Amino acid sequence: MPVVASVVTQDVRFPTSLDLDGSDAVNVDPDYSAAYVRVVLDNGEEGHAFVFTCGRGNEIVTSAMDSYGRLLVGRDADELVGDLGAASKRLVHDSQLRWLGPEKGVSQMACGALVNALWDIRARREGKPLWLLLSEMSPEEIVSVVDFSHIRGALSPDQALDILRRGQDGKTERIAALEADGYPAYTTSPGWLGYSDEKLVRLSTEAVEAGFSMIKLKVGGALEDDRRRLALMRREVPGVPVAIDANQRWEVDEAIEWMNALAEFEPYWIEEPTSTDDILGHAAIRRAIAPVRVATGEAVANRIVFKQLLQAEAIDVLQLDATRVGGVNENIANLLLAARFGAPVCPHAGGVGLCEVVQHFSFFDYAAVTGTQEGRFIEYVDHLHEHFAEPVRIERGRYAAPARPGTGAEMLPESRERWTFPAGGGWVEVGDRAAVTAPHETPAEV
Ligand SMILES: [Mg+2]
Repeated sequence: MPVVASVVTQDVRFPTSLDLDGSDAVNVDPDYSAAYVRVVLDNGEEGHAFVFTCGRGNEIVTSAMDSYGRLLVGRDADELVGDLGAASKRLVHDSQLRWLGPEKGVSQMACGALVNALWDIRARREGKPLWLLLSEMSPEEIVSVVDFSHIRGALSPDQALDILRRGQDGKTERIAALEADGYPAYTTSPGWLGYSDEKLVRLSTEAVEAGFSMIKLKVGGALEDDRRRLALMRREVPGVPVAIDANQRWEVDEAIEWMNALAEFEPYWIEEPTSTDDILGHAAIRRAIAPVRVATGEAVANRIVFKQLLQAEAIDVLQLDATRVGGVNENIANLLLAARFGAPVCPHAGGVGLCEVVQHFSFFDYAAVTGTQEGRFIEYVDHLHEHFAEPVRIERGRYAAPARPGTGAEMLPESRERWTFPAGGGWVEVGDRAAVTAPHETPAEV
């Protein structure tokens, strides 16, 4: 019987701050990073996973993964991978470590990565990409991996089973459709706050020509800049839906005022208008700015907060993230909650590797949960894909179905080596020019 021989972490960072890729009103200078982990079995099998961070603090997440990893070393791997519901509970509800959350922040992200690494082993063993593995699992087994604690009142196991059983109708055809045509994407690449107007228009025009369903702009720096950029989009790139993203920048009243000043440009949604934890604030904003949709989720820590956002009618669109919550299991719960409340899921992506991993959840959602792509698309950002074993493929503005067995998280060993912080060859060349090595000041008004 194979056992977990080691859990190996790596602090991998990319100097994206050099070009202001990924800049927004709050994250002004991210160096996209991956707290990377491999769960290695004594028979040579490996499961890969990572947590995305913006640079500083990546070492905290790797250290948390080391701590949680000790709970796995020496354990029977077949037992862990054969019952991923129990494996997840063993990590998430560890009697001592849970004090650090519970179920939020660094500890939840670290747990999620280890859970995902176990799913990676399972998917590799079955020779399937994660989305297909999930789509072909029975409704009963899917329900068995979900932790229903604290969400039962909104979604019971029986209700989840009903959703998944309905999702079996036409599943084979939908899997074939995904393999042939993929899943719609929207792009954030043109809209970073640090980009010039010329670059915004040029990249947006290219995105429309490439077939993307929507473009997203960062907002919330200065109102006049937001009005100018949105007017520019409407004039120079007409006809394409434009979503906007404030990255939690505003107070509730401020969000309503700011959005009223942008309403004439008819944004498709406003993303993260205020603190992700402010459920009632989101609900107030949503009521005040209708019909503009409210979207959030990339910083939502767990299924319990998503449950409340849905119960409070605080969001129109649920944006799950692949490495924020407690792994595949909790994202299945999030998909089922969204299905129960009729909210479309449009996953958060970008960063480094998030596109590669999060696409699997939308593919599964279409194949075996909601069976629809209406009002749904996966975020796309065109950075750093070349570092992955199976980079995402975008064809005619759609994500092509990933085919490689696993969760999509595997980063090439030479990339990990070169960008290990701070000793990798890439970082020796960058020296102190990146934000992570020469910290900028946080703007005073933030
Ligand atoms: Mg966002």
